[in-house]
Amino acid sequence: MAMQEFKAESKRLLELMIGSIYTHKEIFLRELISNASDAIDKMYFKSLTDDSIKLSRDDFEINIAVDKDARTVTITDNGIGMTKEELENNLGTIAKSGSLAFKNENEQPEDISVIGQFGVGFYSAFMVAKKVTVTSKAFGSQTAYRWTSEGVEGYEIETAERDEVGTTIVLYIKEDTDEERYSEYLDSYRISSLIKRYSDYIHYPIKMPVEKSRKKEDSDEYETYTEIETLNTMLPLWRKNKSEIKEEEYKEFYKNKFYDYEDPIATIHTKTEGTATYDALMFIPTRAPYDYYTKEFQKGLQLYSNGVLIMDKCSDLLPDYLAFVRGLVDSQDLSLNISREMLQHDRQLTIIAKNIEKKILSELKSICNNKREKYETFWSSFGRQIKFGAYDSFGMNKEKLQDLLLFTSSYEEKLVTLDEYISRMKPDQNDIYYVTGENITRCKNLPQTEFVLEKGFEILYLTEDVDEFCIKILDKYKEKGFKSIQDGDFNIDTEDEKKATEKLTEENKPLLEEMQLALGDKVNSIRISNRLKNHAVCITTDGNISLEMEKVLNQMPQDNSVKAKRVLEINPNHKIFALLQKLNDSDKDKLKELTDVLYTQALIVEGVAIENPSEYSAKVCDLLSMLG
Ligand code: ADP
Repeated sequence: MAMQEFKAESKRLLELMIGSIYTHKEIFLRELISNASDAIDKMYFKSLTDDSIKLSRDDFEINIAVDKDARTVTITDNGIGMTKEELENNLGTIAKSGSLAFKNENEQPEDISVIGQFGVGFYSAFMVAKKVTVTSKAFGSQTAYRWTSEGVEGYEIETAERDEVGTTIVLYIKEDTDEERYSEYLDSYRISSLIKRYSDYIHYPIKMPVEKSRKKEDSDEYETYTEIETLNTMLPLWRKNKSEIKEEEYKEFYKNKFYDYEDPIATIHTKTEGTATYDALMFIPTRAPYDYYTKEFQKGLQLYSNGVLIMDKCSDLLPDYLAFVRGLVDSQDLSLNISREMLQHDRQLTIIAKNIEKKILSELKSICNNKREKYETFWSSFGRQIKFGAYDSFGMNKEKLQDLLLFTSSYEEKLVTLDEYISRMKPDQNDIYYVTGENITRCKNLPQTEFVLEKGFEILYLTEDVDEFCIKILDKYKEKGFKSIQDGDFNIDTEDEKKATEKLTEENKPLLEEMQLALGDKVNSIRISNRLKNHAVCITTDGNISLEMEKVLNQMPQDNSVKAKRVLEINPNHKIFALLQKLNDSDKDKLKELTDVLYTQALIVEGVAIENPSEYSAKVCDLLSMLG
């Protein structure tokens, strides 16, 4: 029998498991039990339609046996079993994870949290065992096989004896070391408490022979005897009373069931009776899974009918903007054999989905109001999703989501809700002011920003591509509109200031016309502006499309002809303005050149890619040479 090598990634993972300094080695047990339970689920489903299977619901069980002398822990199930190929494929490779995203080949993660992400259950056995055998007979197969491995070197598969369909896993527990007492897993009391702690809800009995003692009949002596005990209550966590469940249990359940290594941000457990009767247990994860913002990600909640799983990801239960929610719904109103197509039209399911959505949204709202730090963590993972949700379908869901939105504000540079912004608005301010830019620093340093802040207004800094689209679709929030301070018609001048600007414009008409001539159709118009302080010029836009939107829209494959209507605004109090006036009288060619340079500079400041940087550079040099 030849030794076979593990696939490279499996080997790497095994090495991590074996050398793991992870402190929660005990989780190996729940991982193996949950595999056993999955295998029994599959067999049970088969038995519903296959008369050749003589097992009934009550016959399914998981058995644990501990042998102190042999230093073994044995886990047996009468589930679906594995064929030779399955032993090879399932235990020799980590097929589903595809690639393990280790940051660095030589780096050993501090704990196995990286691994936890991929839900690599079986290998955790090697945290406590120096050798593992898996003997299995698959349903429909005549032969049983035994898979044996002592770790990274590889594994062997040989034929074996096994009468019944199912799987037996034997762990040969490691010797104790100075740091680690592996022998604790040979203590049946310890094993039974681990099962109660981690696997209580498993809905097949987990049985183990337990040593007990009793008084002998007609004598004062005691004798020991063994009794097979069922260790788990089999009551699914979500069926229990909320008051009986500890926070810790929810967290363990979540991490175990949904393969997360971090606690959820929130747990929502509801029991509803009435038009629809159901239990729902839902979790809001702390971080987005690595594939969350890709097409591969599938949303959905597990769907149970009276405690029996009927669908793993029921997508109809969650709107897209809540795709991050993990959890399950258990309803007695749903039939066990309902098909996917039927489910879509199921009235009960629609009602449940509506209720659930309300629940989740109000939970998020409450976290936002009462636990801001938590909410901000949530926001950094899923804020983008919420903003897309508000924008999606022409803003159909914006009312539901607008109170959940956060944007960075000039006010202490913190994330704020729209409501908080409004509460600080000036009495005669009708619009919520915002500015767009690549990041906060850019937003802050824009020429337009300075003036608005100085006048004492608060500004939202929109730094994500979806932000402005989201704001535009909201249109209004609590009667207040939104106004970009980069808009051409943004104006917070007093009447006197407006008059003064108009007068200046009138006086400098020839100059403005000459400059417009120089820039041609690059700009829609050139204006004298009161909104600049230290900067000579800035770009604003007229109409609906901002520079930021132009950028985003042009990145999309279909359409790259969107153009914002650009306006060049000039600061009449800047010394450059005097120079422009002078050149208009003396040297029209130089005026042209300077105008072009100023325009390009303004674009750079706005973070817009310029078309011809070398031409710009040449012009600047040319102008600089005048200094000499
Ligand atoms: P996961 O359970 O996350 O898929 P594991 O590494 O724990 O990953 O197991 C890999 C696969 O091996 C399982 O998906 C299952 O197909 C198979 N397997 C593991 N344990 C058993 C078992 N007791 N009976 C049948 N199949 C099993």
